[in-house]
Amino acid sequence: MNNLRFNDFGLDSDILKSIKKLGYENPSEVQEKVIPLILKNKDIIIKSETGSGKTAAFAIPICEKIELEEKLPQVLVLTPTRELALQIMESFSNIGKFKRINCAALFGKEPITVQIKKLRQRVHVVVGTPGRIADHIKRNTLNLKKIKYLVIDEADEMLDMGFIDQVKFIIDDLPKDRLTLLFSATIPQEMLKLFNKYMVNPINIDIKSKNSAVDRIRQLYYEVEAHEKFDLLNKIIYTEKPDSVMIFCRTKKNVDNLVLHMKDKGYPCSGLHGGMLQSKRIDVTKRFKRGEFIFLVCTDIAARGIDVENITHIINYDIPMEKESYIHRIGRTGRAGNSGTAITFVTPKEYRFLEKIGEFFNLNIEEGKIPSKEEVETGKKLFNEKLKAGPKIKNDNSRYINRDISKIYISAGKKKKIRPGDIAGTISSINGVNPDDVGIIDIEDNFSYVNILSGKGDIVLKALQNKTIKGKTIRAEKAMK
Ligand code: AMP
Repeated sequence: MNNLRFNDFGLDSDILKSIKKLGYENPSEVQEKVIPLILKNKDIIIKSETGSGKTAAFAIPICEKIELEEKLPQVLVLTPTRELALQIMESFSNIGKFKRINCAALFGKEPITVQIKKLRQRVHVVVGTPGRIADHIKRNTLNLKKIKYLVIDEADEMLDMGFIDQVKFIIDDLPKDRLTLLFSATIPQEMLKLFNKYMVNPINIDIKSKNSAVDRIRQLYYEVEAHEKFDLLNKIIYTEKPDSVMIFCRTKKNVDNLVLHMKDKGYPCSGLHGGMLQSKRIDVTKRFKRGEFIFLVCTDIAARGIDVENITHIINYDIPMEKESYIHRIGRTGRAGNSGTAITFVTPKEYRFLEKIGEFFNLNIEEGKIPSKEEVETGKKLFNEKLKAGPKIKNDNSRYINRDISKIYISAGKKKKIRPGDIAGTISSINGVNPDDVGIIDIEDNFSYVNILSGKGDIVLKALQNKTIKGKTIRAEKAMK
């Protein structure tokens, strides 16, 4: 049942505008329950899985409450992986775009100097992995004195990954007078014990997974010897003719090997694992999200959080070592009301382990039927035709919302004593432009950037050619980004 509408929460029009642009029509169950409580400043422990809309459940009310004028970060979100950090940052940026909320993602492997520079700007929301956040605290490059909202996302994963000491270290550095929200797919007793002391009378919310994606996923398994997996994979691809697939392997090496084999066969595919450069990982994820290739071959690094629309199939080429990973992996499909198929390969020795997963989560995993030679032949023809037709590029939410926004470079900054108000004032004085059209302003030593909203970038750029800012001649150009 979905009675509430976003309009009923009493949100600001800037936030409602972003929600509309993102295409969210009605709040999901977790949003219905959580948004009003965060607006009322309640600490909450929320048991929910990715795919439930939980990111927006905290990002919407927090964006609503952020005080724009405050110079120090007010929101800290801790997440277990870099990919998730980027995704959450993107959600905050999308939802906070018209309110002009500025966000930063802090994670390992990216040069710390880049992040330090970013933190010198006014940043309202910081999203990061515990290791890097702790690092910034130790270096005194992240001031957490004004944090009012702490979100611990995927808490179970964070503890499993051994981040507990860093998480404690970070929380000890935060003001006591804050809101704390804990999101987790599972809530073991020890976690409750640990976090209860950091929360004030937390309200427990359990979003039942029967409403979650798992029920909409057709789950099959095939018992297969390790050396016959690739042959079986081909048969399944031809008969299923999938649009978008994540294939999970146990190790980086298995990912690389499988990608090589698949490329040899001409399948449009790419690998994703923790051994790759961060920039490459981001690029692969982006291209997969856009549907530029069909098969993403990956390790469990991609099993959590990563949100790609319309993944039709998950293939567990290697069965996961952890029971929970199975749920996270298959949860990449069947999202946003779609159905999906999850196929698991098990060697005879691993069969017992699959049985345990099924029993533990009460799943119905059926034995798949090996396709006949004829089925494979017919399927192969059709699938090859589909490949020839080329990829169908998918719409990406953030791209959509960004379409109306352009970033402009201005050749004057702090050294010329330019302040955000000077830029905003000059731009608002342009005919046909009003203060609402001016987005985030970033002032560096020798130059500045300003986002122009509502598709008015070209008008502003043209007008700035003949304008001065604070009496100073400037050059304005479209930013390279
Ligand atoms: P999450 O559980 O945060 O990983 O979100 C899962 C997906 O649902 C993301 O693609 C969101 O953009 C999308 N989403 C979140 N809230 C809504 C909503 N109210 N209506 C439609 N889609 C939503």
